[in-house]
Amino acid sequence: MLEVNRIETFYGETQALFGPSLRVGEAEIVALLGPNGAGKTTTIRSILGLSQPRSGQIRFDGKDITTLPTHKISRLGIGWVPDDRRVFPTLTGRRNLALGTRRTRFRSWNQSDMCGIFSALEYLLPRECENMSGGELQMVAISRALMGSPGLVLLDEPSQGLAPKIVQDVLKTVLRLKQEGVSCLVVEQNALAALEVSDRAYVMDRGVVIHEGPARDLLHNAPLRRQLIGM
Ligand code: ATP
Repeated sequence: MLEVNRIETFYGETQALFGPSLRVGEAEIVALLGPNGAGKTTTIRSILGLSQPRSGQIRFDGKDITTLPTHKISRLGIGWVPDDRRVFPTLTGRRNLALGTRRTRFRSWNQSDMCGIFSALEYLLPRECENMSGGELQMVAISRALMGSPGLVLLDEPSQGLAPKIVQDVLKTVLRLKQEGVSCLVVEQNALAALEVSDRAYVMDRGVVIHEGPARDLLHNAPLRRQLIGM
C-alpha cells in the first residue's frame, strides 16, 4: 500500500531525514516510534507532500507520489489525522465531516457508518467543535479522515493530550479500521499503547530507521524497548 524508499528531507538547509525506508501493507497497522526529534512527523509530512523529499521515492497504491502536491496525494486515498486535530472550531461536527468527504477507489464512508464506529459521534454531530473535549475532537478528526475514503490513514500522535481511558478507545478504533481493510501508520510517543494495536513497528532516531520488526517483539521485550526508545 505504501512504500517509502530512502528519502532525504530538509527544512531549508537542515537535513531532517537521512534515508529512512518503510512500508505499510494492505489492512496493516504500523507503528512509527522514536524519541523527540527522531523524524517521525517529518516522515508523515514527506508522505503527504507537505515537505517534499530531495531524494528517494514514495509509492502509494502502486503510484509514485514523491513529487505530487498534497491535494492530489489526498485524492489518491491517503487520510491524515494531525496531532493538533485541525478541525474547524466554529463549525459543527457534521459540517467538519462534510468538508472531509471525498471519493477515491477505496471504500467510501458516510456519517452513519462513522456513528457505527464511534457511538458518541451522533451526539457530537450537531455541536460546534470549540465546545468539545480532546477525546471528542479526536473522534471528529478520525471520522473526517475516513470521510475522505482513504486506503491508508496517517495518525500523528493520536493519544496526545488524551486521558488514558480515551487513549485506549482511540487506538481500538485503529483495530476497527484494519477490520474494514484500511491501513494505518501510527506515530506515537505512547509506544506501549501503539504497539498493542500494531502489526509491525519501526523505530527512528536522528532521521534514520534504527529498528523494524513485528510489534510484539518490542511489546514483550522491555530491555530492547528501553535500548531503542528509552522506555
Ligand atoms: P516530535 O515527536 O518531537 O515531533 P519527531 O520524531 O516527529 O519528534 P520531527 O518533528 O520530524 O521529529 O523533527 C525531525 C528533525 O527536524 C528535528 O531535528 C527537528 O528539530 C527538525 N525540524 C522539525 N521541524 C522543523 C522546522 N519546521 N524547521 C526546522 N527544523 C525542523
